[in-house]
Amino acid sequence: MSSILKRIRSFLGGRRGGASAFSVAAIGRATIAHTKILACPECQAPGLFSSEERIRAGWPGSYVPPGDPREGKPVGGQCPNCSAARGPELTIDQGVVWKGHL
Ligand SMILES: [Zn+2]
Repeated sequence: MSSILKRIRSFLGGRRGGASAFSVAAIGRATIAHTKILACPECQAPGLFSSEERIRAGWPGSYVPPGDPREGKPVGGQCPNCSAARGPELTIDQGVVWKGHL
């Protein structure tokens, strides 16, 4: 056996028992959607509670004091300002994203 062939067999044999090199791919699928919260159809009050002065002046039912846990949260199915039924929040699907890490 030639010395070069011995070296190749030695190399291959050594690799068999040792660590192998391989690639790992992690692929994730994520959907993107956003929710559109509309103003009240009756009084045009915003769909989120707010501590802004213009909200207190225009739609006092939607006003909450600064630091209130409801601040920035949706008002729900009934307008807190005029008690009218509000439409459902619209969830708008933006599609699917695939993310890969090699
Ligand atoms: Zn309203």
